[in-house]
Amino acid sequence: MKETLIRSFSVARLRGALTQPFTISSGSHKELDNAVFMLRLGGGVRGCGEAGVAPHITGETLEGTMAALKRAGEWLEGRDISSFDALFRGLRERLDRNRAALAAAEMAVLDALARLMKVPLWRFYGPRPAKTVTDITVVIGTPEQAFDFAKFYLARGMKIFKIKVGIDHDDDLRRAAAVRKAAPGAAIFLDANCAWSVAEARSFVRDLRRAGIRPSVLEQPVKRDDIEGLAALSRDFDFPVCADESLYSLQDAVRLIRAGVTGLNIKLMKLGLAQSLEVYRLAKAKGVSLMMGEMLESRLSSVCAAHFAAGLGGFDLIDLDTPLFIKDRATAGFAGPSPDGNYDLSKVRSGIGPVPLVFSRR
Ligand SMILES: [Mg+2]
Repeated sequence: MKETLIRSFSVARLRGALTQPFTISSGSHKELDNAVFMLRLGGGVRGCGEAGVAPHITGETLEGTMAALKRAGEWLEGRDISSFDALFRGLRERLDRNRAALAAAEMAVLDALARLMKVPLWRFYGPRPAKTVTDITVVIGTPEQAFDFAKFYLARGMKIFKIKVGIDHDDDLRRAAAVRKAAPGAAIFLDANCAWSVAEARSFVRDLRRAGIRPSVLEQPVKRDDIEGLAALSRDFDFPVCADESLYSLQDAVRLIRAGVTGLNIKLMKLGLAQSLEVYRLAKAKGVSLMMGEMLESRLSSVCAAHFAAGLGGFDLIDLDTPLFIKDRATAGFAGPSPDGNYDLSKVRSGIGPVPLVFSRR
């Protein structure tokens, strides 16, 4: 069989225990429970992708995502990976209603192609990998937990703390103060995951500044359809207001940028790989701040997102820390971010790097 033909596919579940529940204002993950997808080419080269399923954010389910990946695999079988752009278009038509599955399928196509060409994935996006260092997320919890957590990661070299807010004004302030006390020189990002009104966002930032804390970015303060609210807060603050839940398509990106929103969070699981690149170009054309983000994802798709951000360059904010929350070893190969948050992609010889353990024996 021709080396470039897609011979077969597999879909599997990727599970793993977490070091702590990943809790944000809109819901919680107790464990990693994602879907992974593998393509095998005629000559035996494989490519893998991961679908980070976030029911409380996107409404997608594991069951629906695995079914969508099976349909994608059946469509891909027998096609030639050399025509990857056409494959991307076909996948986008078929998987537009399940973006995590779309991202996983595109990822597997690119991983297989990069392995076939024997190049690391970032080379598809640029001539050299930009330094890519993630923040670490302080999930919803007590101020004491936030303090201990920040101390723990500060000692490992982490310099940026992203605090999940939006449950209780005073508690959130106390948690931010605890992080500041534990890590006085560190940068602070805020993410409210749609929890506030415009007035609540203003009042929180005002009180935070009274406590001597200036955030570097405020992510998704208001509801996803409140573009005007995001734009109003963008005018108010001297740091970017970053749309995350409000950005789910290229059309959303155009609307947000035209309204004057000052930051966009690109996640492969919301947009897929091809559409993420289109949003990147649009944001760069207009000089909007860019964050590279993710759902709860293992090393596989987190490292893929790091290749994307590192190859393209010009991301102001990197939020690819969820592998650090996964206790079980779910992948073999490239180990992902070091405890200080750095993704050293120069260690990846070909493709994305990590391979899910469920596939490494097949
Ligand atoms: Mg967010």
